[in-house]
Formats: sequence, C-alpha cells, structure tokens
Amino acid sequence: MTANLLDFDLEGLAAFCGSLGEKRFRAVQLYRWMHQKGQADFEQMSDLAKSLRSKLAGVAEVRGLPVISEHVSADGTVKWLFDVGAGNAVEAVFIPEVDRGTLCVSSQAGCAVGCRFCSTGHQGFSRNLSTGEIVAQLWFAEHRMRKQLGLAAGERAIDNVVMMGMGEPLQNYDALVPALRTMLSDHAYGLSRRRVTVSTSGLTRMIDRLREDCPVALAVSLHAPNDALRDALVPLNRKHPIDELLDACVRYLPAAPRDFITFEYCMLDGVNDTPELAQQLVRLVQGRVPCKFNLIPFNPFPASGLTRSPHERVLAFARVLQDAGIVTTIRKTRGDDIDAACGQLAGEVQ
Ligand code: SAH
Ligand code: SF4
Repeated sequence: MTANLLDFDLEGLAAFCGSLGEKRFRAVQLYRWMHQKGQADFEQMSDLAKSLRSKLAGVAEVRGLPVISEHVSADGTVKWLFDVGAGNAVEAVFIPEVDRGTLCVSSQAGCAVGCRFCSTGHQGFSRNLSTGEIVAQLWFAEHRMRKQLGLAAGERAIDNVVMMGMGEPLQNYDALVPALRTMLSDHAYGLSRRRVTVSTSGLTRMIDRLREDCPVALAVSLHAPNDALRDALVPLNRKHPIDELLDACVRYLPAAPRDFITFEYCMLDGVNDTPELAQQLVRLVQGRVPCKFNLIPFNPFPASGLTRSPHERVLAFARVLQDAGIVTTIRKTRGDDIDAACGQLAGEVQ
C-alpha cells in the first residue's frame, strides 16, 4: 500500500522525502499544502517541483477518512461519522464558539477501559487509530468548516482540539504523539499547546511519557474521590489508584502549558454526586494538585442503567468545590439533538 502522508509529523515527512532524495524544505512545502491548504492532489501543489510531484504519485497519497454521515445540530454543533473499515466507525464533533471553534477528536475505535457510564466503553475495543486517521479528522473538519463558514484564506475554523472523542488516547500513545505534533506545528495547524488537550482516564506511566515527549494541556477523568467508588466506575483505577494518579498529575505540571490540571467529573445520579463526596474531593486535592473541576452532566444511554444528576444537585456539588476556592465549571451540553455529547459517541454502523 502507498504511504499515507497524513501519518507523518514534519520530521517523519522530512525523513520520507529524504528517502526519495528530496531536501527538507520540500517536505515543509508539502506539509503546508496538505494541512494549511487542505490539498490532497499532488498535481495541484503548484510550487512543488514537478519531479517531486511525479515521484510522490507512485508511492504516496493523502488519504483522508471516508465520511459516512454529517449531522448539524440546531446550535451549530456538527458531528461526523468516519468509516475506519471492517464495520468500524469513529466520530468527531465540531463545537462552534463565539469566534472559531473546538474539535473533539477520537483516538480509537471503541475503548478497552470500559467505564460504566461511557457508551464507547460499553461498545468494547476494536482497534487503535493510526496517526493518519487521528489527523484526518482535523484535516477534514478544518477545511470543511472553513468552506462552510466562508472564512478567508489564512483564517482558521478550529483553534482548540480536545482528545475527548472515542477511545483512551494514552492507550494509543505511539500514534497519538505524532498527531499532536502536527496539530501544534506552525507549518500545519499551528495550535497552541494550551489549546490541545489530552483527556485520560488515568494511565499514569503514559502521563509521565507525555510530559517528556509532548506536554499539551491535560484533563484527567476523575469521577470519584475515593478508590472504592472509582474502581467501580473506571476499572483502570484498580491498577492505577487515585494516589498514583495524583502524583503523576503533580509531576506533569512543571512541563504543562497551563499551571493546573483539569479534572473531569461526570455527575451520576445517586452514585457520585452527594455534598459529602464533594467534601471528600476537596480534601483529596486541596494543597496537593493545582486544579480546576469540570462537572459533566451525564449523558444517559440505556445500557448504562444510570441517570443524570438533577441540576440542583450539580449546582450544590459545584458550590462545595467553589467554596473551597477550587475553580469549577459545569459543562454546557451541546449538540444534544444529534447525540454529539460526551460519552454518546457510539460509532456503530448498522
Ligand atoms: N478516554 C478519555 C477521553 C475520552 S472520554 C477519558 O476518559 O478521559 C471524554 C470525556 O467524556 C471523559 O471525561 C469521560 O469521562 C466523559 N464521558 C464518558 N461518557 C460520558 C457520558 N455518558 N456522559 C458524560 N460524560 C461522559
Ligand atoms: Fe474509554 Fe474514556 Fe469512555 Fe472510559 S470514558 S470507556 S476511558 S473513552
């Protein structure tokens, strides 16, 4: 099979071009054509040497993902379902904000962690996405939204990427890191490190590696203030308990682009949403990890057997954290009408 150029970060592309006898600046040109202009056709890359264009034609391509469907929500949220073969599909979600927008990107087809409240987790694990398949979601969405929004050349549609789609990004580490590098590269999407977020259920050794290799913003899915409860919600906690996780967060901070960790906490009715648990949470993190909390209203799906905490209980929970001086936000759910919210990304194709 021909090489997919979306699989390469700039260094990888330079090495690939080197193997064709081409200089590094040719790789930069090519990288810019693909990512900044969204061009997939080598013949259209007008300032690329003709000799390189014909060399590439035989051995490489810019292979995006086939789009199965596009759903646009009343609030402007857009969800795409991409075909990744063998009956598997993954989703990406564009969330418009006042100016520009956020893209929620998938890292795996399915997920092996199996969190109780997550529909991707209930689906089980199919396979890791390649770097090219992760990047293809941004490549497609950025250029699609530029057209859709009628943006001028040079204006970008997406200035924020969150690895909060399907899958556990740190369980697909080797494919993730080059994808992050392409998101960050000034010759590609030029996103700031603070605006690329890896969300993880808590693979502590991989948090350490990310700190060394590519420290972007970190969000940690906590969901419980003690191991007994977290064991039941996030099975990975039995291997990597909360103490170990918080230590990894503390080690991450000096390298992180922000001076806090974001803790995500999915609010489950009668399970993890009492004021006592909020107090426990305060005692757990205060004076230990500089952090912010993001409370996520649970997005129910039948197989979970769980329900969403009433809004007043979410507010009361937030108040306990805020009274302790911890910045706490309640996530607005977007794209409800098209099932585009967190944890609703099922991705099956019938
Ligand atoms: N695997 C990573 C990233 C993908 S999930 C992680 O777990 O962090 C992204 C976020 O959505 C996580 O915080 C996750 O806990 C949350 N989530 C999963 N299912 C959800 C649901 N049904 N309702 C609300 N949030 C959910
Ligand atoms: Fe996997 Fe994250 Fe879903 Fe847990 S919440 S099953 S880690 S995708």
